[in-house]
Amino acid sequence: MLSKKPLESNSTGLDYEVKMSKVEANNKPARSGNASIGKHGLHSSNGVYELLECLVCTNLMYPPIFQCPNGHTLCSNCKLKVHNTCPTCRYELGNIRCLALEKVAESLEVPCRFQSLGCHDIFPYYSKLKHEQHCRFRSYNCPYAGSECSVTGDIQTLVDHLKDDHKVDMHDGCTFNHRYVKSNPHEVENATWMLTVFNCFGRQFCLHFEAFQLGTAPVYMAFLRLMGDEKEAKKFSYSLEVGAHSRKLTWQGIPRSIRDSHRKVRDSQDGLIIPRNMALYFSGSDKEELKLRVTGRIWKEE
Ligand SMILES: [Zn+2]
Ligand SMILES: [Zn+2]
Ligand SMILES: [Zn+2]
Ligand SMILES: [Zn+2]
Repeated sequence: MLSKKPLESNSTGLDYEVKMSKVEANNKPARSGNASIGKHGLHSSNGVYELLECLVCTNLMYPPIFQCPNGHTLCSNCKLKVHNTCPTCRYELGNIRCLALEKVAESLEVPCRFQSLGCHDIFPYYSKLKHEQHCRFRSYNCPYAGSECSVTGDIQTLVDHLKDDHKVDMHDGCTFNHRYVKSNPHEVENATWMLTVFNCFGRQFCLHFEAFQLGTAPVYMAFLRLMGDEKEAKKFSYSLEVGAHSRKLTWQGIPRSIRDSHRKVRDSQDGLIIPRNMALYFSGSDKEELKLRVTGRIWKEE
């Protein structure tokens, strides 16, 4: 059975907080209400919000929320890990759902976790996670390709990270002229060249160059990604050009956002694709080494 004491003391706190947030929600449009909610309790040290943090992993809990006979709550993930013993009081855990807390959560409206990065929307508790997966203020993944890098952050953090940790080349300017070299071009089927980043219009653009098999054909591909979201990327255009002997291939496109993985962009073939034979032809007579000069330009669409 549930012990009475913790439940009573919990419900007093809950009532108070829930009323507050409902008043907020009724009186004001959702957008302007969020600041007050944050201020008045959801983030305060004894608010409802904190009750919804799992005592074990401190993540926010979503149904089913479990509790021990003494009322200690924990999330379903942690419940699987604790071998039926409450980590707080060591009582046998059983299978007690905390329906009250689940219901209370339903009535809450909470700010997006990226509030400090600029997202000012608030959401019903159970919609929050879904929003955060798509929130345009969420952190970006490191755009460096060719290694498993798990660093995430805002753009400035990632720019610093690319410079410091990946030793990426940074260039200022909106036109470029880049030479890619590869020895034994006939042997290589998959390769990723060092990322180059261009500072242009106050934004950063990543130029990718890689070799892979497109179906049965070995190709090289160059494409550009903006360090920003898709909406911002669409404000720009770019062109790429590779050629020699009075022949050339050109590509004009819209940079992709680094929200799209370099793999995804590659697979969608949204860039300059150079069949290997043509690349070798442009490269010159030296068949031992591939030397490709890729030129390009970035401009702003008005
Ligand atoms: Zn947990
Ligand atoms: Zn317990
Ligand atoms: Zn958000
Ligand atoms: Zn990285």
